[in-house]
Amino acid sequence: MPKTLRVCALYPDLMNIYADRGNLLFLERRCEWRGLGFELSGVDLGETIDPDAHDLFYLGGGQDRDQALCAQDLAEVKRDALHAAAARDAVIFGVCGGYQLLGHAYELDGTELPGAGLVDLRTVREDGPRLIGNVAIEVKLAGAGTRVLAGFENHGGRTHLGSGETALGTVLSGHGNNGRDGHEGVQKGSVIGTYLHGPLLPKNAWLADWLISTALGGETLAPLDDTLEDAAHRAARRAAGV
Ligand code: GLN
Repeated sequence: MPKTLRVCALYPDLMNIYADRGNLLFLERRCEWRGLGFELSGVDLGETIDPDAHDLFYLGGGQDRDQALCAQDLAEVKRDALHAAAARDAVIFGVCGGYQLLGHAYELDGTELPGAGLVDLRTVREDGPRLIGNVAIEVKLAGAGTRVLAGFENHGGRTHLGSGETALGTVLSGHGNNGRDGHEGVQKGSVIGTYLHGPLLPKNAWLADWLISTALGGETLAPLDDTLEDAAHRAARRAAGV
């Protein structure tokens, strides 16, 4: 019986800029091409989550005003279920605004938006310019070796990891978490956050496969013909100058 990847998109209409739907579609295709099942469900404001019903939770990017709508709901309605899901090693993948909401708080305009508190990080919207541009980072993930992730970033928030947390990668080119410390994203077991978006997964098929495999409990995935994906990856690296 082939396995089925059960994906839950959190706030798919509000937290959805820069190709988040494309990232989900890419996960679907890579499952289909291997004969794996794929189920996608979405949860919106006010809806509860069953932590056991999904293998991968996807929290996409969002503008500050959309994040403000989701933050309270995330902290009040979904927080405990997400902690339970993380405790049983379901993958929780946050991109940009979604990454910021994995932490304790996002501070902007003198207010503090709460987060899911899955990782010890805080984000502050500073007065300086938005951190925008092509970006490449070097990543070490268990089972994937040392790889390069290439994409695009556009965020006003500066994220600071707590001293016990591990970054997803080291900045090779671009700004990363805050433009200062050379760190990008966060990884804590199966909880992964990154500022890289644009069509992140199509440009980095290896990460899509890592997410699928990890979410399915370490499933060995059949190789695919990645000629196009590899070309997209090279182009993204070139754009970042790496
Ligand atoms: N609103 C957040 C920021 O500007 C996240 C932006 C995004 O998801 N692109 O920092």
